[in-house]
Amino acid sequence: MTDLRFDVDGEELTLEPALNRLQDSDGELRRRASEALAATFRKNLRTFTLITNTLAKDKEISDRWRGFEDIADSRHLANRVERDVVDALAAAVREAYPRLSHRYYAMKARWLGMEVMNHWDRNAPLPETPQAVIRWDDARDTVLSAYQRFSPDMAEIARTFFDRKWIDAPVRPGKSPGAFAHPTVPSAHPYVLLNYMGKPRDVMTLAHELGHGVHQVLAAGQGALMASTPLTLAETASVFGEMLTFRSLLDQTADKRERKAMLAQKVEDMINTVVRQIAFYEFERKVHAERRNGELTSDRLGQFWLEVQAESLGPAIKLRDGYEVFWTYIPHFIHSPFYVYAYAFGDCLVNSLYAVYQNAERGFQEKYFEMLRAGGTKHHSELLAPFGLDATDPAFWQIGLGVIGALIDELEALDK
Ligand SMILES: [Zn+2]
Repeated sequence: MTDLRFDVDGEELTLEPALNRLQDSDGELRRRASEALAATFRKNLRTFTLITNTLAKDKEISDRWRGFEDIADSRHLANRVERDVVDALAAAVREAYPRLSHRYYAMKARWLGMEVMNHWDRNAPLPETPQAVIRWDDARDTVLSAYQRFSPDMAEIARTFFDRKWIDAPVRPGKSPGAFAHPTVPSAHPYVLLNYMGKPRDVMTLAHELGHGVHQVLAAGQGALMASTPLTLAETASVFGEMLTFRSLLDQTADKRERKAMLAQKVEDMINTVVRQIAFYEFERKVHAERRNGELTSDRLGQFWLEVQAESLGPAIKLRDGYEVFWTYIPHFIHSPFYVYAYAFGDCLVNSLYAVYQNAERGFQEKYFEMLRAGGTKHHSELLAPFGLDATDPAFWQIGLGVIGALIDELEALDK
């Protein structure tokens, strides 16, 4: 993948910058980037198809030898989650496509002045997105005051990260991209890496990584072997911290156009985390299930991809020629089959928790701290029981999906 090159307007780009062009404000540039991506994927399609077939066959053999019944059971075991729970999640998300992604993209197409969007317009920026640079000190104050309003204790832990210089924030040549919070070992303290550039998204990332940081500090008492949580619960404090900060940023924003851009960005993030990842999961299910009967052609794989994308994106997005090969660049399909549903699981779970918090009178904070302190020592059912939540109840997922739906309602109301 790192060796692939994409010819966009005569420039030879690697994958990341080429994908980045799909977020450009110029629609023609987005189209040309999409065509360049498709051209290189197509050139390598036979190799991608061979790899996918080989890995799926290999997995089928080891699943059979280990006695796993369903194609995703080994992943469920690693995630310490039951098959019924994941099945209920996937069913609930698919059932919600029309009122989440379909409804949102129809609205976005209208904003962009299009009858229907093309697949390369999905992540196009809205003209209302604010351009002002947010200073680091303001970002710190925004996140800490959002945390403070939730719980002074949580703000206290987060403040330590700034006071003791546990955060590497600026962009430097040669520095690793992205962002993370690393717990190191419980007897030491976590470190946070960011690439802070002053965009609203960067403030959310700071809130996200500090959430991980607080979680890691609180869970350290469980010791090196039990402090970390399975994947399905790993994003709890981070996404929750983001939600707190998002809400408080939104409250501070009086300008209607900026509010709309912020809400839209949040909804797009959520759709990419919940809807898109479940569509990926459905794609993998089709691939691995049919691989049991024999080898799959490139055409068949492309057909599966278009099916799950059409179902999840809805009628407002046209899947143009070339999109059928966009399954090839998703690294999770290669490295860790069925990993993708954990993103949807985590996001929906936190949304449900947030809904409980919004309706809770008192005492939510203490229970929340207890949950974080437990680290990896408890099953999800034990962790969620004090909040009156139960992920094994199929109705549970409606709470989290309802939070996304409510944000889209807010957007619709602003649109009037
Ligand atoms: Zn995270």
